[in-house]
Amino acid sequence: MTSFGVMEVISSTLAFFRKSSDQFSTRSFPLCIWGCLVNRGPEHDGLGPPPLRDDGQNLYGFTCMSFADLSKIDRGNRLLLRTFQLAKTCIDHCIPFTIENPASSRAWLTDEMQTLERLGATPQLVHYCQYGKAWKKATVFLGWRVPNFHFKLCTGTSGICSHTGFRHTHLQGTNSSGVFLTLIAQPYPTGLTHTIAATMHQYLQNTPKSGVGAA
Ligand SMILES: [Zn+2]
Repeated sequence: MTSFGVMEVISSTLAFFRKSSDQFSTRSFPLCIWGCLVNRGPEHDGLGPPPLRDDGQNLYGFTCMSFADLSKIDRGNRLLLRTFQLAKTCIDHCIPFTIENPASSRAWLTDEMQTLERLGATPQLVHYCQYGKAWKKATVFLGWRVPNFHFKLCTGTSGICSHTGFRHTHLQGTNSSGVFLTLIAQPYPTGLTHTIAATMHQYLQNTPKSGVGAA
């Protein structure tokens, strides 16, 4: 799903939540938000396109950019804001949720995500290589009142994976068919989805319906 598609889904869900807020006292369910919120983008090495943001004053985007780049920045910022609004609405109505993004994402540096952490959301780190992928791809799930997924982490050193014993594949460039490796690496590993589903299933089974999200 593209960032634009994700934003439409989030905006629609947020509108639905706001219209149906009177039902939240009796309905509680977990929600997963995903998507690429704020791309870190390639570091400026003089070879590729310049980055759209930095980690400091320009976290929400450089201002002197082309129209196309300004549009990308605006879309990312709006997606971030909508995600924050949806997550805050979940908190207001005691609905557990989790937001997933790469560990290196600049989204985690923003006021919006740090506000969610101050409101009790906690990050859980996972390495995809531990679930059968050739790439490490450190990824964070920022969850509010979700169980501990006990994600596996790579303990290998010098680029060698502790799970496979081979060197991690770096997600740079394209494969032999010209497809970007970052695109190929987007889907969750199957083992990871099983872990999340099984943990949530057990959590919901052991928690009274009215108690999900309760303090
Ligand atoms: Zn590894």
